[in-house]
Amino acid sequence: MHQVIASPQGEKFVIARPGARKGMQIPRAMHQELAGAVDDRREVPGWLADAARQAWGIDLAGQRANGNVLVRPLTPLNYSRATWEINKGCNFNCEHCYLAERKFEGLPREEKERLLLMLRDAGVLWLQFTGGEPTIDRDFAHSYRYAYGLGMLIEILTNGSRLHRPDVIELLSSMRPHKVAVSLYGATAESFDSLTRKPGAYKLLMKGIKDAKESGIPLELVLIITKHNAHEIAAMREIAEEYAQAYTEYSNISPTYDGSAEPLAAQAPGLLDKSTVFQGCPAGHTFFHVDPHGFATMCKIGRENPISLMAEGLGGLLRLPDIADAQMLRSGGCSGCQLSASCRVCRPLAKAYQEAKAPLNTYCQHGNGDDAA
Ligand code: SF4
Ligand code: SF4
Repeated sequence: MHQVIASPQGEKFVIARPGARKGMQIPRAMHQELAGAVDDRREVPGWLADAARQAWGIDLAGQRANGNVLVRPLTPLNYSRATWEINKGCNFNCEHCYLAERKFEGLPREEKERLLLMLRDAGVLWLQFTGGEPTIDRDFAHSYRYAYGLGMLIEILTNGSRLHRPDVIELLSSMRPHKVAVSLYGATAESFDSLTRKPGAYKLLMKGIKDAKESGIPLELVLIITKHNAHEIAAMREIAEEYAQAYTEYSNISPTYDGSAEPLAAQAPGLLDKSTVFQGCPAGHTFFHVDPHGFATMCKIGRENPISLMAEGLGGLLRLPDIADAQMLRSGGCSGCQLSASCRVCRPLAKAYQEAKAPLNTYCQHGNGDDAA
């Protein structure tokens, strides 16, 4: 199996090693040199052997490029990232979940493989497996291995409920993901199990992240702050500092992507973060989302005019940039807004809030009490 991947990444060329944070940028000429070395079954060039030793402590000197270096070609579509909802089913029932429905369904295994080949041919280097809970899909391990073998750097966005299982730890130890991002829903069984509505969930999660850390699996914790656990923020940060390489915090609860208000009940009062301003987003241009049936959309929230990759093939993606741009237009309740330059949310998210009839102060500058319009 390959040790490193050489790939286009947008306008650049990079070399990355699965499971390692550090990567390197190379000029196009070196990418071409590596492709030639693989085709001609030559040795790994000296400059790469030196750089790999320095960056990752691996010895590629004197080894053949083919087998050790996986060279991803330039692709006409040149996407670099995708998220894939392998299955929307989930073994938790979180109060704040942004999914409208969590039906347990997805593509048959061979179709999953066909989809992953298309993602590769679209140029996707960074692939996030998400759900629902991705690890409970019966083809998760197979799809993970398949995507890994195609030369993708994989992130798994998970509730962590299966991380305690030896087969999962073995999979992620032998084929290292770029990262495993685990949602943390509390620092005690009381808060965690009440938000996830799953008795015993906290205990298994803690065993899972401990096992993952001991196996050297790169963990990132995503702290989801809600009314159930707001009093435990300090303890949640301590857990993150103990087990994860990095962590992020989310305290703004969104409606479901199709505009249902139910998750908003989990919002912790007083913890709405209003500090960030929406800076633009390349959804649909450099990355896209795929649902369990192989429909591509600009992202997880902006799901208008889905493109069936299974029916149309990769050519369908040519329509995605225009579909994305149309969803970014300030329409509906945002038409002509005078405060849009300081808006906190993108247009697809604002639309979900508007459809959910969420209070203005949860997402809109006009709800700040400093309404200039
Ligand atoms: S674990 Fe994630 S997908 Fe599952 S119910 Fe909770 S928020 Fe939704
Ligand atoms: S929800 Fe908004 S910010 Fe997030 S990816 Fe979609 S368009 Fe971009």
